Amino acid sequence: MKPLIIANWKMNPQTLVEAKKLFNLVKRGTRDVDNVGVVICPPFVYLSNIQHLKSNIQVGAQNCFWEEKGAFTGEISAPMLKNLGAEYVIIGHSDRRKYFDESDEMINKKLKAALKAGLKPILCVGETEKERKNNKTNQVIRRQLVRNLRGIENWKLKIENLAIAYEPVWAIGTGNPCRVEDASRAFVFIQNVLAKIYNSKITARVRIIYGGSVNSQNAAGYIKKAKMHGLLVGGASLDPKEFVKIIKSCEV
Ligand code: PEP
Repeated sequence: MKPLIIANWKMNPQTLVEAKKLFNLVKRGTRDVDNVGVVICPPFVYLSNIQHLKSNIQVGAQNCFWEEKGAFTGEISAPMLKNLGAEYVIIGHSDRRKYFDESDEMINKKLKAALKAGLKPILCVGETEKERKNNKTNQVIRRQLVRNLRGIENWKLKIENLAIAYEPVWAIGTGNPCRVEDASRAFVFIQNVLAKIYNSKITARVRIIYGGSVNSQNAAGYIKKAKMHGLLVGGASLDPKEFVKIIKSCEV
């Protein structure tokens, strides 16, 4: 599976001019890269403009709502994103679970909506610091996967559209990345849980990636040693030189 490096810009940058500049610098820096896929997930308001800056970089959103249309003030639906040209959507990021009280049930509805619309969802799972200290990592990952994927058998023909991001909450934005061996253990555990929900043939088609304080020094380890299928990069994706270095270090 060709590694996929996904940028989560979160609520950055503050202007469209900066967003376009950042995108164009990554575009220029990755012109000669062809064995790594690159996805950029800007804030909603920049999606359309970024999408029109034609390149090999694919575009994704950071969230979507589960209904297709209607009286849901302030929300954006999965078909709207698809119609705008977005390919991917991040779902269940820990920022959303934490600050917007997104429950596993809400995330499940969003995942179904995204798959139905033909988007490629990136489902984020991972334990908090407290859960890790209490040896609850596997329990949390299993619970999130089972609840978030409930009923998604109906969409199994598009299961290859799904990516699971193992994002330990304690590693996000902290400069304290997960050890490659631990990410590798989580990767195998996620594969086993998926194989129980689906089967090993379907599981082999689901991309499993890592996210949490990835930088140009540690990126290659997750891809080349832990054999993860990609990375979700937050802070470091806002520095175009660093992000391009991350992408290039993952070339296989
Ligand atoms: C993220 O927000 O998904 C993330 C991985 O952030 P960072 O790379 O900054 O830890």
